[in-house]
Amino acid sequence: MGIIAIPEGLQTKLCVLGDNVLKDVPENVKKLWPGKTAVIIADENTWKAAGEKVSQLLKDAGVPQDEPYIFPIEPALHADYCYIPKLREIVKGKAPIAVGSGTINDLTKLSSTEAECDGYLCVATAASVDGYTSYGAAMVVNGFKKTVPCAAPLAIIADNAVVSSAPFEMTASGYADLAAKIPGGADWLIADALGEHPIDERAWGMVQANLKEWLSDPQSLKEGKSKPLADLFQGLAATGFSMQYYHDSRPASGAEHLCSHAWEMYDLKKDGVNPSHGFKVALGTLIITALMTETFKISAADIRRLTENRPGKTNAEREAQIAGFLKGTQFYEDTLKIALSKNLEGDKLAARRQLIYEKWDIMRDRVMKQLIPFNELRARFELLGCPVNPADIGTDLAGCKRAATVAGMIRKRYTCLDMLYELDYLDTMLDTVFSKGYFQL
Ligand SMILES: [Zn+2]
Repeated sequence: MGIIAIPEGLQTKLCVLGDNVLKDVPENVKKLWPGKTAVIIADENTWKAAGEKVSQLLKDAGVPQDEPYIFPIEPALHADYCYIPKLREIVKGKAPIAVGSGTINDLTKLSSTEAECDGYLCVATAASVDGYTSYGAAMVVNGFKKTVPCAAPLAIIADNAVVSSAPFEMTASGYADLAAKIPGGADWLIADALGEHPIDERAWGMVQANLKEWLSDPQSLKEGKSKPLADLFQGLAATGFSMQYYHDSRPASGAEHLCSHAWEMYDLKKDGVNPSHGFKVALGTLIITALMTETFKISAADIRRLTENRPGKTNAEREAQIAGFLKGTQFYEDTLKIALSKNLEGDKLAARRQLIYEKWDIMRDRVMKQLIPFNELRARFELLGCPVNPADIGTDLAGCKRAATVAGMIRKRYTCLDMLYELDYLDTMLDTVFSKGYFQL
């Protein structure tokens, strides 16, 4: 492992993963930000994990640096816009160095974009998220969570010793976030088959070509071996590059991420704490894998027979359903707009169903080839300590059904949830999934 190849034309110019690569930070700061003063953004944990060392290396190499900005551990740091104005002043005109993973990276990413810095350098401290290398930052703005567009890091440096000493839960989270690209890819295959969202071969290949290989050895990952950790980091980085290239998160996320977003809308907590992104996505990945598996057990002839006379929802009925889930919340208006914009009625619905029946066998072949079988995936998650049952992330049967239903309303992105909704069969299939022993309820 060493320099990870980056496709041309992306904002990120350098991505290094390897042994003893922190020492490369000063020369890259000099090269990428000639004459600039560096400033490290970290929290107390990441400062200890790598920040302090980076600061010393900069000093030894004669790179001027400001006082580091170190967030305290308590209260827990969230990617909230309220921190940005101050950070913007701190990084303005400087070479910002984010030492951390999700939140620190997102805060530095957005503040350095707003301060019009020439990008920033990320010293990764965990293989926990695919957001390192993507453009855009997940941020709470005035209480609303959104993805705020901003530039990806100019360079990422991940030292094996640092990444491998992160709490294992973070690595397990990253594994689940990478495994989510399996059902996420299946959703894209469905959207492609139905003419809703054609596959982009390059974006697809960047994530999918080696995905199963990157995920193949959870046992060694658990044992702390370096190859599977490098594979995981590379997979997460490649996913971010694919999003940079494609300017959309489609290559990285499908219905399993939408379930996670829905849980976030309801502020899901386990023992008073929000589960990590990867852990919510883990359960979403299992639910959607089970849902696709049960769905495509049905033959093309049977799905037609079972669904062609089902009424579907009129716009008024859909509106009433959404009101039942979300009225009175900050998400209601946006969700209503999006869900109604994709609600089909009358002839349009009939034509869509016809297409679904015609493409059923093709979709089944593609999807079942794409998926990792449910039991295999669950065993891998269990091995790594990822959630495998609703209670593991603080939810239950009702919470899962609600999340999967709301997940189909909140984004334009076409997934298996839309297909089943259009067949007026989503409720039935969710009941099937949750009555068949996939999960302990
Ligand atoms: Zn994710």
